[in-house]
Amino acid sequence: MYQSLKKELDNRVIVSGDEGYNQKRKVWNATIDKHPGAIIVCKSEEDVLKAVQFANEKGLHMTARAGGHHVGGFATCDEGIMIDLSQMNTVTVDQGRQVALVEGGAKLGDIDAETQKFGLATPTGTISETGVAGLALSGGLGYLRGKYGLTCDNLVGANIVTMDGQLLHVSDEEHQDLFWAIRGGGGNFGIVTQFEFALFPVGPEVLAVDVMYDYQDAKQVLLKAQEYMNQAPDEVSFNLTVTMLPPVPFLPEFLHNKKVVMLGGMYAGDPEVGKAVVKPLQEFAYPIVDQTGVIPYVALQKKLDAMVPDHVAVHGTSLYFSKLTEESIDLLLAKLDNAPMPTYLAQLWALSGKMNRISPEETAFTNRDSSFVLLLDYMDMGAGPEVCKQWVDSVYDGLLPLSNKGTSYLNGIGANETVVKNTLGVNYQRLAEIKKKYDPNNRLRHNHNIQPAE
Ligand SMILES: Cc1cc2nc3c(=O)[nH]c(=O)nc-3n(C[C@H](O)[C@H](O)[C@H](O)COP(=O)(O)OP(=O)(O)OC[C@H]3O[C@@H](n4cnc5c(N)ncnc54)[C@H](O)[C@@H]3O)c2cc1C
Repeated sequence: MYQSLKKELDNRVIVSGDEGYNQKRKVWNATIDKHPGAIIVCKSEEDVLKAVQFANEKGLHMTARAGGHHVGGFATCDEGIMIDLSQMNTVTVDQGRQVALVEGGAKLGDIDAETQKFGLATPTGTISETGVAGLALSGGLGYLRGKYGLTCDNLVGANIVTMDGQLLHVSDEEHQDLFWAIRGGGGNFGIVTQFEFALFPVGPEVLAVDVMYDYQDAKQVLLKAQEYMNQAPDEVSFNLTVTMLPPVPFLPEFLHNKKVVMLGGMYAGDPEVGKAVVKPLQEFAYPIVDQTGVIPYVALQKKLDAMVPDHVAVHGTSLYFSKLTEESIDLLLAKLDNAPMPTYLAQLWALSGKMNRISPEETAFTNRDSSFVLLLDYMDMGAGPEVCKQWVDSVYDGLLPLSNKGTSYLNGIGANETVVKNTLGVNYQRLAEIKKKYDPNNRLRHNHNIQPAE
């Protein structure tokens, strides 16, 4: 079935049995083991057009792969076509427009490396190997969220291949419905070949907050974090991570296998002014390590990379909270204490500033009234998939009644129709209409799926 396409694309169509097939079908989450009918390695917009037109002719469903980092393994699929964009990773800065042109398969580190040459940045995430596309299409939380908003809030245009095989440019002026939908509605509407992100002066040196507290102070730290949030200026964004540190050579021995709360953040402004502003973050309890200081923005954006394996079996979930109450903190910590193995990364990201001042209906990204989001990743280091899943589900079920209307950060949770409907809330019906217009056959279904309206 793929012979003619193979010829047209210089053999960049990989099927089962071909060299590289098993490597290419892998995604970040090692629990995912899917076998696409073909993997089409695209190098240009023309390649993506050919791939989509081919899938259409054959009536095949498809998925795009950018960084392959989604915990739900949405970048791959069984039987359909995986459109691999990983070689489309060029980033160009348009200084005149203060915009970064970012190809659809770029990683976060590709953006920072190019934009920082001009002392500029756009809000992205915190691990440089993560794909831009998946992250941007469903939000994008990083250290600039308080000052400049989410990644999707800073999208000013995009090139997108729609399921009828057209290449469209979308913006506030062109195909406004599609432009609105891709800012929070995920990869439901077409394959984005190029993003255009607004840029801001950032760095090159920034004040990075990096404090580690003992797990025994976790409750106090989390309560104080909520208190700090109530008056945090836009410049401050920070994340708390409750975890047991691995016995790895880059950590001093006294931290090996130690349960801690890590507080990582940034002051997006003059570092000298920031030092007094972030001081309370360094004093939530006695800090066992404090490496807060001025470092290059690019270094901050890569600082956590070493903590993240390239390919790991993970069960992930997420919930938003209007407020971190004593009840929710007690429940979360009790669940962590009872984990079958302490192989969790329980992150609580503080949400405030610009990202929360945008109205829920201005973009498809709906959740604008939470003060924290929980991102729980449970790594399977031997407990087994069933045990891991059961534990993660029990944390989710326990905290659900305390959450913000049962909503989740879609970039941190696997497929679940109820979660999608809860989270996209007031925007769901409008998204379903747009889905019907641009993907009536639901060819793009390996995602937080929005069903085409009836
Ligand atoms: C280690 C790690 C660190 C993370 N850190 C952060 C963080 O700091 N901040 C944050 O907000 N999130 C973070 N995340 C979550 C991250 O946002 C999601 O995993 C996101 O989906 C990653 O994007 P990707 O391009 O790698 O996704 P993929 O897995 O490649 O794709 C995800 C979905 O998007 C679709 N898609 C991919 N490319 C395109 C395209 N070009 N056009 C249309 N659809 C497309 C896919 O088909 C799939 O449905 C992190 C995840 C991991 C694993």
